[in-house]
Amino acid sequence: MSPTHYLRKTCRLCNSSEVTQVVALEPIPLSEGYMADPNAAQAAERFPVDVYMCATCGHVQQLDVIASDVLWDSYTYYSGDAKGMPEHFATVSQRIAARVDLPQDALVVDIGSNDGSLLKPFKERGCRVLGVDPAKDVAAKANADGIPTFDTFMTANLAQRIRKEHGPAQVVCAFNVFAHADDLGEMVDCVHEMLGPDGLFFFEAQYLLDIIDGVLIATIFHEHMSHHSVKPLASFLDRHGLELIAIDRARIQHGSMIGTVQRKGAGRPVEASVHETIALEDARALDQVTTLNAFGADVRALRDSTAALAAQWKADGKRIAAFGAARSGPTLMAQFGLRDMIEFIVDDHPQKVGLCSSGDGVPIRPTADLTKEMPDYCVILAWVHAEKIIETNREYLERGGRFVVLCPQTRVVAASGDVALNAVNA
Ligand SMILES: [Zn+2]
Repeated sequence: MSPTHYLRKTCRLCNSSEVTQVVALEPIPLSEGYMADPNAAQAAERFPVDVYMCATCGHVQQLDVIASDVLWDSYTYYSGDAKGMPEHFATVSQRIAARVDLPQDALVVDIGSNDGSLLKPFKERGCRVLGVDPAKDVAAKANADGIPTFDTFMTANLAQRIRKEHGPAQVVCAFNVFAHADDLGEMVDCVHEMLGPDGLFFFEAQYLLDIIDGVLIATIFHEHMSHHSVKPLASFLDRHGLELIAIDRARIQHGSMIGTVQRKGAGRPVEASVHETIALEDARALDQVTTLNAFGADVRALRDSTAALAAQWKADGKRIAAFGAARSGPTLMAQFGLRDMIEFIVDDHPQKVGLCSSGDGVPIRPTADLTKEMPDYCVILAWVHAEKIIETNREYLERGGRFVVLCPQTRVVAASGDVALNAVNA
């Protein structure tokens, strides 16, 4: 325990103290902490990321909380740079506009607005837009790009100020942050404060069922405090004067959900998607400890088989590199037992080249080093982009390199296609 970290004792959604650990994981360093000094990087503190479930409402969550100023201090993720995100946000803004009346000058507020990528299409439609994001650098970029952005956390004071100075919002969004807030009650109270009587609130979060089915272990790191499912969320919103009226599942990040929410009593009917998704969750026993325990067993089995493969490669004198100094990198290296196996990481972002991965001290090199060095295996840590990375680095494969994909099953990919795992060491 340090001033940076504390273990929360109650459920983030319903405050019940009936919380049980359901998946034990390896502690990991803070995932954005890339450093220049390999020794300092190796000495970086690790924090638990075990998964808990609330017996009262069924919410699945992290209870190891990192102080927000530390967690977001070095945050360098730009939505607009993330592959597929600008297109995703353009589609989302069209869907939102189809659901809600958006007269000229309607106010659209985005909580966790990052570089303003989601607000841009609304500004182009003639809406007034306001972003809120505590990451100073990304907020500065949004302001420079003409998206007015408060570089602070969403608080009750700010919500009141926005309501007073700009009037009620027709749309409030929380697309990057709904899983990221420790005090989610405060966040939805802010939404309630800002939302006009006919307005709609839209949020997106990774969906628990997709995490379980896809063994998306790479999404479990400190920034992701909640692993949402619909049933606990619907009750939570109801307790805060809001009503979940629709759920859409999206493929972005390998499985997320977009919720549509109104103020209670606003009069729109609750759509079939909400009832159907809750029925699916009941059928899959998503609020049962045994379901999450089984997920934990899947994770352990995957880790054991992958670590055994990598250990065999090492014993055979093979070289192993990795691709992508992504946020999920330290998570995957820790959870798959690869910490001491990786010689170097290649990455497309020049600002990360020359630094070392936090906790492991693995050097980050330019992507060109993959074909220069020709390691025998290259583990893809930027898991979301695995197929794209394989496609754009054919030369590495053609010359005998092999990519390793970790989730949902370990795959070894050669130029000719997938290699049977029992043949990998032959
Ligand atoms: Zn709960």
